Amino acid sequence: MTDTRAVVAGVEVSLDHWIGGKRVSSADRFANASPIDGADLGAVAAGGQAEADMAVEAASAAYPAWAALGPQGRLPILRKFAEGILARGKDIAAVESADNGSLLMGNLHRMVPRAAQNISFFAQWALGLNDHVIDHDEVVNNVRYDPSGVAALITPWNAPMMLTTWKVGPALAAGNTIVIKPPEWAPLTCSLLADIAHEAGVPAGVLNVLQGIGEDAGDALVNNRDLARISFTGSTDTAKIIGQAAARSITAMSSELGGKSPFIVCADADLDAAAQTVAGQYINAGQVCLAGTRILVEASIEAQFLEKVRAAAAQMTVGDPRLATTRVGPLIHPEHFARVSGFVERAKAAGAQVLWGGAQSDAGDLYFQPTMFAGVKLEDEISQKEVFGPVLTWQTFTSDEEAIAIANGTEYGLAGTLFCGNEARAMRIAEQVVAGTLWVNCFFVRDLAAPFGGSRLSGIGREGGTHSFDFYCDIKNIAVRKGSFANKGA
Ligand code: ADP
Repeated sequence: MTDTRAVVAGVEVSLDHWIGGKRVSSADRFANASPIDGADLGAVAAGGQAEADMAVEAASAAYPAWAALGPQGRLPILRKFAEGILARGKDIAAVESADNGSLLMGNLHRMVPRAAQNISFFAQWALGLNDHVIDHDEVVNNVRYDPSGVAALITPWNAPMMLTTWKVGPALAAGNTIVIKPPEWAPLTCSLLADIAHEAGVPAGVLNVLQGIGEDAGDALVNNRDLARISFTGSTDTAKIIGQAAARSITAMSSELGGKSPFIVCADADLDAAAQTVAGQYINAGQVCLAGTRILVEASIEAQFLEKVRAAAAQMTVGDPRLATTRVGPLIHPEHFARVSGFVERAKAAGAQVLWGGAQSDAGDLYFQPTMFAGVKLEDEISQKEVFGPVLTWQTFTSDEEAIAIANGTEYGLAGTLFCGNEARAMRIAEQVVAGTLWVNCFFVRDLAAPFGGSRLSGIGREGGTHSFDFYCDIKNIAVRKGSFANKGA
């Protein structure tokens, strides 16, 4: 089979699948362009039923040997894999920026180290999984985390490398083999990941990459009956479709979906820090599922805080994400640009007041100005639907009860942010907000051991630390009657 390659940001990247330790091509291809300037990044293999089946077969064939290695046997290979990610950090960062328009500096300094940690952390964590013993009067319960089989990992375009490794790390450490379906709007870094895994000694078939369109390759993959797990990060609507496929074969699925997270600012908060953090929600053009997009401000400080946020937002330079001075890059795709613009135009038509932004930026075709809407009601579309762009709303509250009611007033429950100077008050509010993660006086800090996921339409399940293995493993209890053996054996 041929291996079609492209040079992207000076880095050679295969545009084909990686299946069973080999590059596999497809006659069907899909176009991939850079959101930075529309540059053609090459035609990527568009897999279908045949390629999806081939990938699951390769993963199934590789499974017994990989599972048999145990956490200790997998550790050195996965450590090398993590080291390989760091060694190719500059390439990964550059290709990711070209492919999805994310900030180069952020990719280099935060995304790449985190991607490597995602692999090494879970490989290390797996060593202690089988230490859990529940001692009963007559019986000892030995809790075992067994590998479960082949996992399908389906990832989105806004942070492909980080979100893919967040699944790859625990799935492989658990002893599963995997088929990754990268996002068609940003498919390239996952291809590099396959090369790095191979060079690190991850055996053929353990990690497979199936390129293609969600409705074709993705659909064929999730409908394969030989999957043990489906882990999905993406939109709520797609999760509903994949969930139906998972239900048909009772395949466990975890999903991390959209959000419309509140950002609550109390009058006694550190307003400078809060204002900087609000402006930070525009980073990556707001294409961040965790972003706190609904700014809820205690009415008594509204005017003062608004000026601070306005000043901080004015510092969010829109432009080429490869420049160190840029804070807000392009939206990923013309279709997505039209979607974001549509939300903005409908909000204006419904009477929302544009405090700043509200239109395309002169930085280029896919660039949108950091935008803030006031005069919105909780039931408005702009308050309820995930825009996934640099668009925030501004509302005030006069009591904690009101803040909590607005915070909880959408169908989502992914995250929330609270800036507050009073610990007891902060904890009272935090405990009542429906969210998988609630940051208090900080934002985006995610310990790999901590549970992560969403409530309501923001997802099912939690990953992170042991929670990841609760999903990727078949958990078994070996319950042994005490004193029932004649001898210890060998
Ligand atoms: P977004 O709105 O962020 O583009 P999607 O949910 O459409 O999110 O996409 C997230 C991932 O899901 C992508 O890798 C995409 O290819 C994949 N996908 C989309 N539709 C399907 C589907 N029907 N079955 C399986 N995967 C899909």
